Amino acid sequence: MPMNNTGTTFGLSKSDTNIILFIVGVLIFLYLIKRLLQWRSGLSNRNAVSKKVSGEEAIYRPKYWFQCKHCKVTVRRESIPNSEGCFKGPDHYWTELAEVGNDKYLCRSCSTLIETKNIPVTLDCPDAPEHTWIKLGITSPARQR
Ligand SMILES: [Zn+2]
Ligand SMILES: [Zn+2]
Repeated sequence: MPMNNTGTTFGLSKSDTNIILFIVGVLIFLYLIKRLLQWRSGLSNRNAVSKKVSGEEAIYRPKYWFQCKHCKVTVRRESIPNSEGCFKGPDHYWTELAEVGNDKYLCRSCSTLIETKNIPVTLDCPDAPEHTWIKLGITSPARQR
C-alpha cells in the first residue's frame, strides 16, 4: 500500500494549494490594478480629447472676421456664425469683413479693430453708413516674440 505522506488531496499537495491561492490572489490584485488603470486612463483620455480639440484649432484653416451690424460683435470664424442670440437686433446681421491676417485695421467710426489679410469691406458699419478703415500696421510674427 503506497504511503500518502505528502498530504495529497485530489492530487494536490498542501504547498500546491497555497501556490494556487497565491496565484488567484495575484490575479485579483492585477485585475484591480487594471481596473484602476483603465479608470485613470479614462480620465486622461478625456483630457486628451480636449487637447485634441485645441490642437485642431491650431491647424491652419482660413478664418474670416464677421461683424454683426446690430450689436457690433466681431468674431473670427471659418464660416458665417449662427444668427441667433443678438442682443440688439431680432437676429445677428453678419457681414464678412475680411480674411484674418496680419494687417491691423481700425474703423474710425465704430472702433472695430481687426487683423486681416486685405483691406476689410466698408459695408454695414454699425455706427456709420460705411466703415472707414485706417491701417495701423502689420503684426509680424517675428516681432511678436
Ligand atoms: Zn448681433
Ligand atoms: Zn465701422
